[in-house]
Formats: sequence, C-alpha cells, structure tokens
Amino acid sequence: MTRMCLPAPSPYTGERECPACQGRKVSGWRVDFMHRLVVDVFCVACGGCGRHPASHDGCEPAEHADWDPVDHLPDDDELLAPGAPCASCWGRGWFAVQAWPRDRRVVYQLRVPCGCASGQLVPAPAGGAEVGS
Ligand SMILES: [Zn+2]
Ligand SMILES: [Zn+2]
Ligand SMILES: [Zn+2]
Repeated sequence: MTRMCLPAPSPYTGERECPACQGRKVSGWRVDFMHRLVVDVFCVACGGCGRHPASHDGCEPAEHADWDPVDHLPDDDELLAPGAPCASCWGRGWFAVQAWPRDRRVVYQLRVPCGCASGQLVPAPAGGAEVGS
C-alpha cells in the first residue's frame, strides 16, 4: 500500500533563518507513521517556524509545533460559525505528535496531517526511516 504524506511546509526565506534547518521548518527526516503515512519531523532548533531560534524574529506562535490549538479555542459559537477553521488543527492542516526515540533524549514533534487535510496528501517518495531505529 502506498503511504501518503503532507507536502513539506513552505520554507521561511527571510533574514536570519534557522541554522539547523535553513528555514525549511522540518529536520529533513521523515518517519513512518502507523504504516499509512510518512510524516516530517519538525526542526528541533526553531520548533517549526524556520526563524533563527535566538530571536524568533516575526514568527507567529501557531507556526511552532508545540503550539497547541486546544489551548486557544474560542467559544462554541465562533467555532461552529461558517468558515471557522478546523477545530482539530486550527486550520494548519497538521497537528504535532510527540515522539521519544529510544536512544535519544530529545523529544521530536511529528507533523501529522489532520483529517481536514486529507485532500492535500500526496504519495510519499520511497524511503523514510523510523526515528530511533
Ligand atoms: Zn529550524
Ligand atoms: Zn519561532
Ligand atoms: Zn484540521
């Protein structure tokens, strides 16, 4: 069965990009997720905004993997209004899932596609290793 993936985020191309990911926002690793998807691992240094981690110059909180939409949900009326963003991902099209590789101490954030983004999924290129294996 072909595994699917969300296209990579559009990179940050302004000044002072993150030195770890060069503004790509993701680490370049892609991992198998539930044998159904191939997902990107967010850049640990900038957390997903692509900016230099020393300044986070001009980034939005919601660009970071550790920003949780659940903490920011408006009341039900707004949420159910026509045109409201997806309540699960706040319109980002993905949500972050934490992963703890066995042999590393860093917590990784996986960029897992939200159900509302299923129409954006594309077949994953071959390859993609399990984190920590
Ligand atoms: Zn980065
Ligand atoms: Zn940032
Ligand atoms: Zn969604």
